[in-house]
Amino acid sequence: MSCYFTERFAELVPYTPGEQPQDMQYIKLNTNESPFPPSPGVAAAVAAECGKLQLYSDPESRVLSEKLADVYGVCSDQVIMTNGSDEVLNFAFMAFGDEKSPLVFPDITYGFYPVFAQLNHIPYREIPLTEDFRIDPEDYIACGGTVVIANPNAPTGIALGLDVIERIVAGNADHVVVVDEAYVDFGGESAVSLVERYDNLLVTGTFSKSRSMAGARLGFGIGSASLIRDLNTIKYSTNPYNVNRMTAAAGVAALEENAYYMDNCRAIIANREYTAQALRALGFEVLDSSANFLFARCPGWDGGELYRKLKARGILVRHFDKPRIADFLRISIGTREQMERFIGATAEILEG
Ligand SMILES: *Cc1c(COP(=O)(O)O)cnc(C)c1O
Repeated sequence: MSCYFTERFAELVPYTPGEQPQDMQYIKLNTNESPFPPSPGVAAAVAAECGKLQLYSDPESRVLSEKLADVYGVCSDQVIMTNGSDEVLNFAFMAFGDEKSPLVFPDITYGFYPVFAQLNHIPYREIPLTEDFRIDPEDYIACGGTVVIANPNAPTGIALGLDVIERIVAGNADHVVVVDEAYVDFGGESAVSLVERYDNLLVTGTFSKSRSMAGARLGFGIGSASLIRDLNTIKYSTNPYNVNRMTAAAGVAALEENAYYMDNCRAIIANREYTAQALRALGFEVLDSSANFLFARCPGWDGGELYRKLKARGILVRHFDKPRIADFLRISIGTREQMERFIGATAEILEG
């Protein structure tokens, strides 16, 4: 068989998305989606936009970026809108990472970081989390590269305080610090308030988790106008129309109904606390989560085995077959009813 794939990417190991099975209805607790539908205005806004699909979308996403800037208390030239936050992360890696500024991130974090680094041939260094799966901020002070920290971290769910993030940003003035806030609405402290004071800080966010729009692909970056200009140079060299018309309209409607999503976040936090308590009562060790998922292990049980037994009972969770965390499960937080069924199934499995 001939091979046409360029040698440049011969070693590239792509990201593995969580499974999206089409064969049967699972209780889906494996990809950190919201269990709640988008707010009512979103469907109407998307429908209205469909009649204009013969026209390209606004490459500046002006209406949307102004709305987002408004909600986050920044100027619209401090904002870039992207096709999911994966895209703004890729843009940031391309724009700010090279041999002189290698990427630095934890060994246990979002699995896309090493993939984007490899794709773009940017050297990277992984710093081990501590024994108890925490980020030690001292490891990230003046570490000589572009720092990437998910806060709260994934898949641990553990959050750093704003004071700690500020110390890391201030301690790396010669390099960009990317703070990936995909989960911040579930109990983290956002670093957006620091953007005014630190021109090396880029905060990224997504509509995929707290705003129930994973299928629409909408993400954003917030940083100094100069960082945003650099990201736009990459964007206009890649895909100027990265945010399509329907998604942009959906985003505007979602921001207009922001209170609905913040209410949903409160419900998810309550369900998370219920689930954490129930798992601990079953003997699990559960890490402190500020996200819409829990990371937990049961002494004496292999994570893969629990995952398979749950799947056989119609419940999907995420298992990472990776050193240090192979005995853990990552459980997305759904509705109260879904979590009760998850706890019931787990209890059954443990009883054998
Ligand atoms: C889900 C996730 C993202 C990006 O999701 P998009 O759907 O591309 O916006 C980014 N970072 C982390 C840590 C995530 O878990």
